[in-house]
Amino acid sequence: MLKKNTLERWTADKSADVYGIRNWGAGYFDINDNGDVVVTPILSNRKVSVSIPEVIAGIKERGFDMPVLLRIENILDSQISLLHESFRAAIKKLDYKGKFRGVYPIKVNQQEQVVDEVTRYGQRFHHGLEAGSKAELIAALAMLRDKEACLVCNGYKDQEFIDLGLFATKMGYKLFFVLEMPSELDLIMSRAAYLNIRPLLGVRLKLATQAGGHWTESGGDRSIFGLNTSQLVEVVDSLKERGMLDCLQLLHYHLGSQIPNIRDIRSAALEASRIYAELVKEGVKMGYLDLGGGLAVDYDGSHTNFTNSRNYSLEEYCADIIETVMETMENAGVDHHPTIITESGRALVAYYSVLLFNILDVSRFEAAPVPETLPEDTPEHLVNLLDVYKSLTLKNMQECYNDAMFYRDEIRTGFRHGTMSLRERALGENIFWSIITRIAKDARRLKHVPNDLKDIHVALSDIYYANFSVFQSVPDAWAIDHLFPIMPVHRLNDIPSRQGILADITCDCDGKIDKFIDLHGVKHTLPLHELNGEEYYLGVFLVGAYQETLGDLHNLMGDTNVVTIRVHDDGSYDFVRELEGDTVADVLDYVEYEPKVLLEQFRRTAEEAVRDQLITATERREIMEAYEAGMRGYTYFER
Ligand SMILES: *Cc1c(COP(=O)(O)O)cnc(C)c1O
Repeated sequence: MLKKNTLERWTADKSADVYGIRNWGAGYFDINDNGDVVVTPILSNRKVSVSIPEVIAGIKERGFDMPVLLRIENILDSQISLLHESFRAAIKKLDYKGKFRGVYPIKVNQQEQVVDEVTRYGQRFHHGLEAGSKAELIAALAMLRDKEACLVCNGYKDQEFIDLGLFATKMGYKLFFVLEMPSELDLIMSRAAYLNIRPLLGVRLKLATQAGGHWTESGGDRSIFGLNTSQLVEVVDSLKERGMLDCLQLLHYHLGSQIPNIRDIRSAALEASRIYAELVKEGVKMGYLDLGGGLAVDYDGSHTNFTNSRNYSLEEYCADIIETVMETMENAGVDHHPTIITESGRALVAYYSVLLFNILDVSRFEAAPVPETLPEDTPEHLVNLLDVYKSLTLKNMQECYNDAMFYRDEIRTGFRHGTMSLRERALGENIFWSIITRIAKDARRLKHVPNDLKDIHVALSDIYYANFSVFQSVPDAWAIDHLFPIMPVHRLNDIPSRQGILADITCDCDGKIDKFIDLHGVKHTLPLHELNGEEYYLGVFLVGAYQETLGDLHNLMGDTNVVTIRVHDDGSYDFVRELEGDTVADVLDYVEYEPKVLLEQFRRTAEEAVRDQLITATERREIMEAYEAGMRGYTYFER
């Protein structure tokens, strides 16, 4: 714990260091002088900031309970602008002759308001969409009204998908069918011939290049998607035979998401550019090189090639790609520079959502006082354990730790065999934890902390019970140990004097967060404030990408409330959209209960209880009212 005399001098700047907000916040998030987290979403006017605790107050006035997913619409706009402006700058600087086109992969966040904003705001840059399934294509066709923008179709394509895509082509959409496997070509060609529409074709490549990171299985030789070079050559020959070679215009690869190392991005771009150049030499028209996604988000702010980070800036990403493609084309004597497409999803949407929740309770680990002496007939191991406690000094810490572990295990064994009573075991546990607490406290004073004792404070950390579900709202934190920045959104002028982990309200032992971002690896506890009787609000930041639809109904915790704000140049803001989260009836319905039938069944049981004189008729009415109110209620803890 931090010392008392630092209390007065604690500042928002210190909090900024502790939580790293200026490292991962990308300029969008910071702390103001009041100790509140603020969001600064407008690139051209960085003076305009909105306090998140104020927004929370507004959300509550409007009758929404925590947890709430807060979306800041301007951030999405800013990220789209940044991507295009960075490519524009690189293209200008290097005198690249081709263009840049972005497409947004719908799967990264399919919510209507996201796709609507990307297409509406993105129109000025002709930002298009990537659809990986029939449902996504159907959404994309309605949402994308800009015919200059690209619509890239990946994934399995059945006849319905293909026909729809072909009609869209006829209507003037710039729609590419990307072949994921050679067998797709026949179906596309036969439907194209039948409907008499010339399709635009792309090919997805299996590159030899592999990248580090969590999600990169989808790239590389062993990836399940894409064509290898021999299949690519077959496709070229087959198109040539059909007299349709001019349809092939796009080459695509997707190395995987969240590529932390710029070297991997460069080498994949190089390999794909080489293949592009060779296709041109084969007489294929080409025109588009689609580098897929992978542009990473620096979740921990460390700017390294760690999984949750990236060791490059957006400027470097754009410059490296443009330079690599350009050099490769020039070396190969290709007389044009392809239009570069990227399918960045994560980088576009991650910053735009923050999950806000309140803390319901804290459980602290505190051992009861240890007795001076023990009764005459106390079992030996327990006596020995007390001796360990009494003999503990700075010098024999490791030894005492080993002994304490040994006697604790012996006491447990004794209990199992019936030679120790429940009270003796309880006393043993208490002495054991008292020893551990003292070691944790004193180990800080050692110059060289033995390895065993380094993380001992983690076992003693507080548990903060948080009003949200990890499974529903941050599934990647559970499924793949993904790290998101998490911090209190207020009280940041006060010292966060406790160390805690977060337990969610599913009561599942996996429903917790006990790994946190750190500039050097991973932290196992999060500095937090003592509860002071008022609501304590935390935020999980950068959750705009992938989390929403991967989330599940574990313990029947449903969708959270969603509130979207748009910030104006004068610092005012509007609540532009509000979506009520699931009610209990909604989630029961998802798992095929019929709320009406449940109500009827419960009513019958209540009536039987009246008949059996367990409750009165008036009580029955109250119970039924509570049951129905529960059905209509939010699935999370309501104050
Ligand atoms: C998932 C996916 C993307 C998005 O990748 P990000 O790393 O989120 O930008 C792009 N293209 C394809 C084909 C994908 O499957």
